[in-house]
Amino acid sequence: MKIDLAQRSRAGREQPCAQCGSTYMARRSNSRYCSQRCIKRAQRCVQSNASGAIGRLKPWLLNKGYAGKTGAEAYGLTVPLSLVLGDLNDATERLRAAGHRTVGRFTEAGLKDALRGMGFQA
Ligand SMILES: [Zn+2]
Repeated sequence: MKIDLAQRSRAGREQPCAQCGSTYMARRSNSRYCSQRCIKRAQRCVQSNASGAIGRLKPWLLNKGYAGKTGAEAYGLTVPLSLVLGDLNDATERLRAAGHRTVGRFTEAGLKDALRGMGFQA
C-alpha cells in the first residue's frame, strides 16, 4: 500500500497491523488491525495460542524443575505458585518482545485452573 505524504499528514496514525504486519492508517487511536479479516484471524489465533500455551506449560514446568510427578498421572509444584507465576509471565513477556504472539499475562486463578486441567494437585 503506497501512501503519499500529503495524505499521510491528514489521515490518522500510520502503524503496522498487529496480525499481518502490513502498514495501514489507523483511523482510531485504539485500532490494532488493518482489516476485518485480520481482526477475525487474530481472534482465532488468541484461542489457538491459549490452548497451545497450556500444552507447552507442563513440559516447561518439568524442564524448569518447578514441577515433579507425584503419582502415575499426577503432578505437583516443587516451588511456590507465585514464583511460577512470575517466571511464566516473564517468559511470556520475552516471547512478546521477540515478536511472538502470546496469550496475555497469567493470573493466579488462571494458572491454578490450567494446572488443575493438567492433573496437578494444587
Ligand atoms: Zn492486517
